[in-house]
Amino acid sequence: MATVECRDLCKSYGSQEVIRNFNLSVADHEFVVFLGPSGCGKSTILRMIAGLEEISAGKLMIGGTCVNDRDPGDRGIAMVFQNYALYPHMTVRENITFALERAGVKKPDIDTRLSPVVDSLGLDVHLNRKPTELSGGQQQRVAIARAMIKTPDVFLFDEPLSNLDAKLRGHLRVEIAKLHRSLRSTSIYVTHDQLEAMTLADRIVLMNKGQIEQMGTPEEIYSRPATLFAAGFIGTPNMNFFELEASEGRLRDGALDLPAPAAVPSGKVTLGVRPGAVHLVPEGTPDAIPAMVERDEFHGESRLISLRSGAHLFTSAVPATTQIHEGESVWARFDASALHFFDTERGHRL
Ligand code: ADP
Ligand code: MG
Repeated sequence: MATVECRDLCKSYGSQEVIRNFNLSVADHEFVVFLGPSGCGKSTILRMIAGLEEISAGKLMIGGTCVNDRDPGDRGIAMVFQNYALYPHMTVRENITFALERAGVKKPDIDTRLSPVVDSLGLDVHLNRKPTELSGGQQQRVAIARAMIKTPDVFLFDEPLSNLDAKLRGHLRVEIAKLHRSLRSTSIYVTHDQLEAMTLADRIVLMNKGQIEQMGTPEEIYSRPATLFAAGFIGTPNMNFFELEASEGRLRDGALDLPAPAAVPSGKVTLGVRPGAVHLVPEGTPDAIPAMVERDEFHGESRLISLRSGAHLFTSAVPATTQIHEGESVWARFDASALHFFDTERGHRL
């Protein structure tokens, strides 16, 4: 059983507290993604789980046993890093099997374990090459194979695709997903890339400044962001935000004047609307907002229209066939079923 449990994990460097009371239970076979901006503490937690970083306070359990004082090699984990760190003087085969040889595994056993791993990653034809003779994507596959062959209870990935170009990233992302489906190892994957998180995760742990902002499936976080931070971080193009004043059943600011749902209290409130929920409508449509087209970006299947209404700047995603011109006056209407309301001061969802 390979569950991972973080109980009030803390990490400080000198007087700087980087992680505060981090609590998380990862189920057996689960694929959890730590997502958040650079510097929010994702790698620090992963390295504490791996045993590469000392735990300042709290308890780390793997498979139900406290492993705070256990060496990295005795935790049943394998880690894949952003920079592959392959040995340049060794062949692909030697890079993959090195750790097993050092652990005294017999050659026939190593060969038996090697072939399914290299087959699944398409490395079988490259076994005798040196890392410099491989592309970045192939090198990263060698790094994954090196981790896989240890048949770990827990896989840890730290931004493994960040050094690759977009096409290769997409390709290896699919391979990692397939790998997890066949191996079913409990996995924790760190990334700042929301697309990777959304496509790979059973559950996303969204982090901000060393703390958990929201935990949930990709769908849960996308459709019900718990905070302004979560709403702004997840979703491309970004969600639009409007600071409004709620009173007497209306939400107002400048030319914006919308009906306020019953759950919204009077006072300052922030409305969030995804660009896909901002529709261009004919003049005279109820609750439509007058706006000016500032910019029209062609995105292939859609267009992203930047609109201005008084002091409010926002975007609308429309089908690419929509005829629109910069400088044009239009009317925009928000899809009433797709509105998100947040406490402006404290940031939580209302
Ligand atoms: P992420 O992986 O989310 O980008 P990190 O976990 O690497 O973030 O870093 C979290 C914070 O801890 C950052 O503010 C970083 O500067 C700080 N930090 C990381 N390692 C050290 C270290 N060895 N000494 C001091 N501060 C560190
Ligand atoms: Mg990092």
